[in-house]
Amino acid sequence: MHEQTLAIHAGYEKDAQGTMAVPIYMSTAYEFRDTEHAANLFALKELGNIYTRLMNPTTDVFEKRFAALEGGVAAIGTASGMAAIFYAIANVAEAGDNIIVAKQVYGGTTTLTGHTIKRFGIETRYFDVRNPSEIEALVDDKTKIILFESITNPSIDVADFDAIVAIANKHNILTCVDNTVATPMLCKPLELGCDLSVHSASKYTTGQGLAIGGVIVERHNLVEKIKGNTRYSHFNEPDESYHGLVYSDLPLPLFTLRVRLALLRDLGAAPSPFNSWLYIQGLETLPLRMRQHSSSALAIAEFLEAHPKVGKVNYPGLKSDANYELGQKYFKGGHSGLLSFEVVDKETAQKIADGTDIFSLVVNIGDSKSIITHPASTTHQQLSAGELIEAGVPGGLVRLSVGLEDTQDLIDDLAKALG
Ligand SMILES: *Cc1c(COP(=O)(O)O)cnc(C)c1O
Repeated sequence: MHEQTLAIHAGYEKDAQGTMAVPIYMSTAYEFRDTEHAANLFALKELGNIYTRLMNPTTDVFEKRFAALEGGVAAIGTASGMAAIFYAIANVAEAGDNIIVAKQVYGGTTTLTGHTIKRFGIETRYFDVRNPSEIEALVDDKTKIILFESITNPSIDVADFDAIVAIANKHNILTCVDNTVATPMLCKPLELGCDLSVHSASKYTTGQGLAIGGVIVERHNLVEKIKGNTRYSHFNEPDESYHGLVYSDLPLPLFTLRVRLALLRDLGAAPSPFNSWLYIQGLETLPLRMRQHSSSALAIAEFLEAHPKVGKVNYPGLKSDANYELGQKYFKGGHSGLLSFEVVDKETAQKIADGTDIFSLVVNIGDSKSIITHPASTTHQQLSAGELIEAGVPGGLVRLSVGLEDTQDLIDDLAKALG
């Protein structure tokens, strides 16, 4: 089936009522038929519902639909994008291990990897996404995962998947891509050879800025890379917290299963069924929306590029952009609604951000409503001056998340703010 059909139908089988819309199963727990059924569910001899911290029928539809769109074998929903990223890391790394992360990542990912997980004894080693060959020198026996974004936010770089995946596979290390900005409609990291992807569902998935959520997607046959791989001994040895279960022996998608059985069980950042229902509504129109976000963003990027007060415009759809070739190679159907541009200094950037009417001054992306952000005073405020430059966020940088309003109205609004 084509993705526009999957976006509307995948993962849902109508119940006895014939309900056309996916029902919201607001229930904390589920009744077992008898004690044997209960014991079988806990022992994974049978799969079924136990408790909503672990699984929920509405969330299950969202997970199946998202996995189908991303081209993965399974997905697991989380309470936020940050929870998805943390769980992807915590599912493989423990005290004494290290992970390799692109310097150009979302602000929350920078603070998570640079500060918070350090307190858990996990070291982060950074590489420049514009120069993936830096990864090679960072790898050792304790390296557990390589994390990067398909389109970076807010520097708007496109990752060179082939180069990163080649180094990761040479050393048998898992790769995880934050595909939030691209969405499965424009880029499919798992089909480009990556092992895992993570998303903030808070962005294009809901599409209207309605709820916080996240998702991790696992590729088909990931067990091939993990089985017998000494880097991932905890997938190959008995899990004492789950009465001796060996994940790599199960005929099930092992990465997302371990997130569910160990991390959701113990850390509990599970999505609300109501939020999962909102993401399902969002996915139905995701293919249509991403086309409009992309074409409008390209028109705005072209307008900005021709404007005398604007310096550099970062958008991979522009022929002049340093990422144009990578964008053509790895993206299909557009380059999303996120772009950034530089003006002469911080004060000018603030004046523009304060001067728009349709673009709202908000720290979010992927909304139907257009958004303007000044990263240096908001999302990246906690970063030091050095970290700001490393993350590609100069003081005069303005970020736009182009929404679904009329394109000409958006251009007129920016023209007015630029003065
Ligand atoms: C927003 C965002 C996140 C974090 O997601 P939340 O749902 O806000 O926790 C992670 N990565 C990227 C690229 C994002 O834009």
